[in-house]
Amino acid sequence: MIYLDYAATTPIDPQVYEDMKSYLLQQYGNPNGKYYTQAIETKNAVDNARERVAKFLKCQMDELIITSGASEANNFIIKGIVDASEQTNPHIVTTQIEHSSILATCKFLEKRGCKVTYLSVDDNGQIELDDLRNALTEETTLVSIGWGNNEIGTLVDIQAIGNLIKNVSSQIFFHTDATQAVGKVPINFSKVNVDALSFSAHKFYGPKGVGGAVIKRDKDGILPKITPLIHGGEQEMGLRGGTSAVANIVGMGKAAEIADKDLSVTIKHIEKLYRFLIEELQKSSISFKVNNFGSDRLFGIVSLTLYGVSNELIIKALASDVAVSAGSACSATKPSHVLSAIGLNKDEIRSTIRVSFGKYTEVNDIRNSVKAIEKVYEKFRVIKS
Ligand code: PLP
Repeated sequence: MIYLDYAATTPIDPQVYEDMKSYLLQQYGNPNGKYYTQAIETKNAVDNARERVAKFLKCQMDELIITSGASEANNFIIKGIVDASEQTNPHIVTTQIEHSSILATCKFLEKRGCKVTYLSVDDNGQIELDDLRNALTEETTLVSIGWGNNEIGTLVDIQAIGNLIKNVSSQIFFHTDATQAVGKVPINFSKVNVDALSFSAHKFYGPKGVGGAVIKRDKDGILPKITPLIHGGEQEMGLRGGTSAVANIVGMGKAAEIADKDLSVTIKHIEKLYRFLIEELQKSSISFKVNNFGSDRLFGIVSLTLYGVSNELIIKALASDVAVSAGSACSATKPSHVLSAIGLNKDEIRSTIRVSFGKYTEVNDIRNSVKAIEKVYEKFRVIKS
């Protein structure tokens, strides 16, 4: 079985698993217990993990609020900033191709009276900077634009976007969902012109159910006003109550340390696989197009329209040999809003698969997958007369 759905989730790195194990069985103390050894040990483990993540993302330890993952972090930041804002008619700017946890949060806030602008994108998934500039008003409270897209791999110029927003007004809060970018491109939170980012450990070989919101402190060390999503408990500076998921947090820390160390090797490996994938597809009998042929991209996420076949048939026929998906795991039952935003028609969307790979994928996996896809493609292709 060849796994090519790394954008949905990645396998846990065995070193991550090794580090987590003892926090599930032996070291089970509550890190907030304070006075006995078991609690002190787990508190130290959480602190140590926080330090590793902070080093990886180049943020301060007290800028990281650990959450259950990126969906929670996205909800927390958007709702929390808008709720705490003094703006009487808050306005949010986002794009049409964000993850469902951003779009659904915006829809929720729209029902509560917020105005939301959903910026359109070109066929590579990029926004027009002029559209962004024109969308900003005196009421704009927050802009949320994803760093890397989970369906078509678009990578945006986050610094240019941040600079534009801050030049218009330093009061506008700029958030980026960096879930697909973390572990795939270098991230320097202290340098990049964003106020907050979200991420998730299971996208960089850590466990599922843990991630974080990173929120910038100002020069006096003060966090912006933000309403907690989970009230109760002093954990995470009172911003996210609930007993810390120690084993998961330890796993996230280890995954961050490994991702940091391996980043440049991983980037080269993934780019090589991408080029090889395209070459193999071009040599095959498959009639296809890559959605997002831009050079600003995450090389490990490739959206392919396979002309003349249904993606469902292809995915099901491949199921026991190659794992690929139709798009985002979080909105798997609906036609992709991302593909429709970049201009694909219904037939094209129905013929599109997402192939995503990672550090454990080998050249041979790509070769064999293309062969397997070609075989089912030949079987199911409908030639229009
Ligand atoms: N944002 C993006 C861009 C994603 O790709 C995902 C996961 O698919 C999420 C958010 C949600 O992450 P989590 O599974 O940690 O809630």
